[in-house]
Amino acid sequence: MPERIGVLAIQGDFEKHLDAVRRTSPGVETREVRTSEELSAIDRLIIPGGESTTVGLLLERYGLGEAICRRAQEGMPIWGTCMGMILLAREIEGRDQYRLGLLDITVVRNAFGAQIHSFEDTVAFAGVDHPVTGVFIRAPVVCRVGDGVEVLSRYQDRIVAVRAGRVVGTSFHPELTDDVSVHRWFVDL
Ligand code: GLN
Repeated sequence: MPERIGVLAIQGDFEKHLDAVRRTSPGVETREVRTSEELSAIDRLIIPGGESTTVGLLLERYGLGEAICRRAQEGMPIWGTCMGMILLAREIEGRDQYRLGLLDITVVRNAFGAQIHSFEDTVAFAGVDHPVTGVFIRAPVVCRVGDGVEVLSRYQDRIVAVRAGRVVGTSFHPELTDDVSVHRWFVDL
């Protein structure tokens, strides 16, 4: 059976992720995920960029957050980009908003400043053999990593990608570039 990759499609830039995943290999199937039922029909999950407070409230209200945590405990790979990484974090600096807590990290939201400070630059990413373009949009950074959390990428000495087992977070948005290497890496993880 082909690998079924789901993208959380509540809000944010999920379409771009679906496109990028389709371009990694003809063997993968893509699904939009909005309900626990849809979640149970996928093998891997991507949580896209968006607004973490809004999406967090909806994950909590409809029980989808709990269902995601259950699947993570069973070993399903999950990758969060930007907002996705914020939602995966155990702690959000100075905020008590809903989160999944699946990555033992602390994140700082909007760490590079407001919308006007969005930018792109090349970053090294462990797991991909060439520098990738990091698109940072009101991006978070990781200011604490717990035991067992591996740093996959740094930008100007700040941690911008991490992994703990099969749970991955990136501050930047590989789905907004033409290079699908990070998506391919995740599909093969
Ligand atoms: N700053 C947003 C948040 O805190 C995340 C931005 C993004 O996902 N591009 O939710």
